[in-house]
Amino acid sequence: MAEAAAAASACTLCARHLPLGPRPIHQLHERARILVTSQAPGTKAHLSGIPFEDASGERLRDWLGMDRDRFYDPTKLAILPMGLCYPGRLPRGGDCPPRPECAPLWHPRILPRFTNLRLRLLVGAHAVRFVLGGRMPLAERVARHAETLPAHFPLPHPSWRTLVWAKRHPWFDAEVIPALRREVERALAE
Ligand code: SF4
Repeated sequence: MAEAAAAASACTLCARHLPLGPRPIHQLHERARILVTSQAPGTKAHLSGIPFEDASGERLRDWLGMDRDRFYDPTKLAILPMGLCYPGRLPRGGDCPPRPECAPLWHPRILPRFTNLRLRLLVGAHAVRFVLGGRMPLAERVARHAETLPAHFPLPHPSWRTLVWAKRHPWFDAEVIPALRREVERALAE
């Protein structure tokens, strides 16, 4: 895994599309029990080099019921986004989608190196579609999370927009978050 992680860290494949240049961000250890497949780093993560070092990360840790020590312990939780580098801003606001070259290049090289995975969290529509396929709307996929367990738990991206989304879908806080915390504890305990 260390070799694959180092190779990913040195990647410059789509540098010409990246406004701040390549800075691949991940958290990888072959013994991780939980894998977070998220979208792509934001500017704060790009600057710090630390994944989820922002408000979205705080929200995600709250959803998972994990403190920073557990979240940033790579033997417990790995982070392999759909795009490893910050992809830039859209003209009308919001971050660009993850670079499409990235996951097809790095996921097949890295995923087989995990030896202890119990649960994969698919965070955001890009990860959900890439891994699970199909055209099911994200809200329906999240509501039907039991169908993809124990391997995959589909989730919305924990950006501020999700606060509005969660208000429209009150079952998310009432049912999905407690189920998510149970699955996280199971994955860490097994
Ligand atoms: S986004 Fe992915 S493919 Fe592009 S330079 Fe970064 S690591 Fe390489």
